Amino acid sequence: MVNEKIRKQVKDDFTEYLTLRKHRKTSERYAILDHIYSIDGHFNMDSLYNSMLEACFRVSRSTLYNTIELLLDCGLVVKHQFGAGTAAQYERAYGNENHDHIICVDCGEVRETSNNLISEDQLKKIRKFTVSYYSMYIYGVCSKCSYARRMKLNRLRRK
Ligand SMILES: [Zn+2]
Ligand SMILES: [Zn+2]
Repeated sequence: MVNEKIRKQVKDDFTEYLTLRKHRKTSERYAILDHIYSIDGHFNMDSLYNSMLEACFRVSRSTLYNTIELLLDCGLVVKHQFGAGTAAQYERAYGNENHDHIICVDCGEVRETSNNLISEDQLKKIRKFTVSYYSMYIYGVCSKCSYARRMKLNRLRRK
């Protein structure tokens, strides 16, 4: 959950974007934006749709898709494709900066870490570029899957 200041700021940014691009400012679009900013961590289109239903917001899937496209376009939502053949995941762009994604290549589980593996000093060393935020993807095998891999190997050895 992000604070009121960020929620108001993103709403103002969205209004500016919709006005500039001559898109309609519907209450549904604002409800979707506000709902997204109440979600911690990642979501996909299905989990967003379901959590909106749970919160008693009735929106059609096409409105949801269409609004997500607008939110991506104006930079209020970030899209991730963590692995080939997995559903795209999304997260809010503000109030959520500087975290890394640890992705298991076996089960596809995604964890977030804010260990800040890159320091402010390292970011400043990037030449001719001002960093706004960063997001790293670290691929590997989670402990559950590496256990499963070992078990499988043992079974093969015994044969
Ligand atoms: Zn795994
Ligand atoms: Zn994330």
